[in-house]
Amino acid sequence: MKDDFYLRFWGVRGSCASPGVDTLIYGGNTSCVEVRAGDRLLILDAGTGLIPLGTNLRELDGALQADLLLSHIHYDHIMGLPFFSPAYHPDSQLRIWAGNCNGGIEAAMHRFVQPPFFPVPLKGMSAQFSFHDFISGDTLALSGEVQVRTTALNHPDGATGYRIDYDGRSICYITDTEHPKEGLDDKIVTLIQDADIVIYDATYNDDDYPAHLGWGHSTWEVGLALCEKANAGTLVVFHHAPERTDAELRALDQVIHLRRPGSVVAREGMVLKP
Ligand SMILES: [Zn+2]
Ligand SMILES: [Zn+2]
Repeated sequence: MKDDFYLRFWGVRGSCASPGVDTLIYGGNTSCVEVRAGDRLLILDAGTGLIPLGTNLRELDGALQADLLLSHIHYDHIMGLPFFSPAYHPDSQLRIWAGNCNGGIEAAMHRFVQPPFFPVPLKGMSAQFSFHDFISGDTLALSGEVQVRTTALNHPDGATGYRIDYDGRSICYITDTEHPKEGLDDKIVTLIQDADIVIYDATYNDDDYPAHLGWGHSTWEVGLALCEKANAGTLVVFHHAPERTDAELRALDQVIHLRRPGSVVAREGMVLKP
């Protein structure tokens, strides 16, 4: 196993941050995953997990160059951006990507980061930002040896799933999405085919999902079925409901490992290598 392609979880929650004594082990920050591929840094989503990632990066580098791939712009996926310390370094270059963003991602980000919601407007953050809209389903034109494919997900206001391929290995990031009433989402099966790691929206389980029909989220049981059908490797259960306690997640870790050995529940600080 080579060391130049790996991921680290900085936020694993969905909906809203959930600090407290019951989330100390798995973590309470919302969606953010650091991916290193050779000399490239990709960041999947900018939830509150982006804040500790920024602190860590500032200690290492000061300025940085990164591609920030957004699944969508619900608050739990962007709330960390105004507090991302490398964005205040004039030598930082941040390329922000979003699929099917109504009105464009640049305009959306300017609306999000401005007074009176936040004291500093986006153009007051010193980093060099560039914004890249695409149609979910496109392959993104990142330079170098990193290939990024995308697909549209089933979520209110839309969302995008990503597959990152590097040096013959692959990481997929599939959140937020609701599975079809019957069968599996063929677009997801195609995207994750033979992938090494599949991070999947498992906000719910078979028991609590029926009370949340139409909310745009899925279950770990469907995540298992998708990985089986697509001959994918490690399933990583992600986007935990804010009320899910460490005790519940630890129990789930054991269950999914028995059902499909190698499967894991995402936890802040966890590092995985495809
Ligand atoms: Zn979410
Ligand atoms: Zn959402």
